[in-house]
Amino acid sequence: MGRRLSIRSRLTLWHLGLLALTLIGFSVALYVALSEQLYRSLDQRLALASLTALGTVRLEDDDSDNENPTFRYSPPEDMSARLLGPDGRILQALGLLSNAPVDPAILDQARTANGLLYTIDQGSVPRARAYVRPRLHDGRVEAYVEVAEPLTVTESALSGLALIVLIAVPITLAVAGFGGWFIADRALRPIDAITRQAQRISEQDLHHRLDLNLPDDEVGRLARTFDAMLSRLDAAFQRQRQFTADASHELRTPLTVMKTNLGVTLNRPRSAKQYETALSQIDGEVDRLTRLTNDLLLLARSDAGQSIGQPRPVDLAALVDDVITELRPLAEAKALTLTCAAEATATVQGNADQLHRVFFNLIENAIKYTPEGTITTRVHPQSDRARVTIEDTGPGIAAEHLPHVFERFYRVDAARSREQGGSGLGLAIAHSIITAHHGTLEVTSELGRGTTFTITLPVV
Ligand code: ADP
Repeated sequence: MGRRLSIRSRLTLWHLGLLALTLIGFSVALYVALSEQLYRSLDQRLALASLTALGTVRLEDDDSDNENPTFRYSPPEDMSARLLGPDGRILQALGLLSNAPVDPAILDQARTANGLLYTIDQGSVPRARAYVRPRLHDGRVEAYVEVAEPLTVTESALSGLALIVLIAVPITLAVAGFGGWFIADRALRPIDAITRQAQRISEQDLHHRLDLNLPDDEVGRLARTFDAMLSRLDAAFQRQRQFTADASHELRTPLTVMKTNLGVTLNRPRSAKQYETALSQIDGEVDRLTRLTNDLLLLARSDAGQSIGQPRPVDLAALVDDVITELRPLAEAKALTLTCAAEATATVQGNADQLHRVFFNLIENAIKYTPEGTITTRVHPQSDRARVTIEDTGPGIAAEHLPHVFERFYRVDAARSREQGGSGLGLAIAHSIITAHHGTLEVTSELGRGTTFTITLPVV
């Protein structure tokens, strides 16, 4: 396929084409209307003048020798008039066209039609329009009256108009063409600027922006939308890079621990008891690795949008109750009080395993990070949403950390959290699952007072 014309050229050509059509149409219409009008008024004048001339024809003269008819008509300045005998002989002639040849056929037609309008086009005399009327007496032609006017005035008016049109239309089109090109060029220049800037921005330097100082019009909005999109892409790329770096780091830690452990153990022969200890330490690290890879896999799936599967009804109160039963030994080991208040059953649509995981993560976190006190879980069914709150009396989360706790690998106190076996993915996973269920997960916290996580889910 050939290269398409630029938008600039296409806009200009369209604009010119339409203008040319309009101008030509207009000029033709003007020419036709004017020529009709001129010819019609000329014919009307001739008809009237010939009638007047006919009225002045006298047959008998006092002088009995001369039986020829005469007329006493003086035509207006630009007209000429003739009186012809029944045989076509010129009896009297006044004005410019007095010696134009007489055509018997025309006279015949004029007699039959009782008057005829025709164009004299003989070459020897100027082109003219003429009106012939017969003077009848008892059905016999006594004489013909002919009034004529040269067409020069009418024709030169029309050719003058044609000349003006022929000169003015191309000039107008040329001016409009340049003007159109100029306007299209000005309108499209910012788009060229956007293209050039955008070409400079590659995947590596996504932090560059177009930053074109354009007014708030269509193109300005395009540039700003593009910048906003770049910002989002930049943020997404950065998150992705951060995520990969964090994930590699998390995976390397247990591997390093295992490698060191193996190196030390294999250094020299060990007792069966020592081998057992080493292997069980390695087993713990493998568990950690397995957990981590499973978590990463779950997040990757939820990023790909294939998270919930086929939704089924889930009774939230029963689900929370199960989680609490599972976690009660952990709470009892730390002498924490674990209470659950479910006002009524609340059924939501979703994936029971995933929702189980959310509550498990949240209540386990509450137990992990609360040194002493109470953890209270409440289920409130509302008209269209179910709300679950998990409240602890732990150390709380400082305000500066609060907006980040749902980010992947984010840990408020990395050392303490890793000690507890956390990788910083628990809340990110919970958030991603709840979002996939069209619910919300929020946190409020006060340092030294405790933390409350609130989940809302749409009920069926
Ligand atoms: P981890 O696996 O480290 O627990 P999470 O994503 O579950 O990761 O939690 C992220 C961070 O939020 C934790 O490192 C912890 O510092 C903080 N956090 C989570 N829950 C609580 C809580 N109930 N009380 C205080 N801090 C909490």
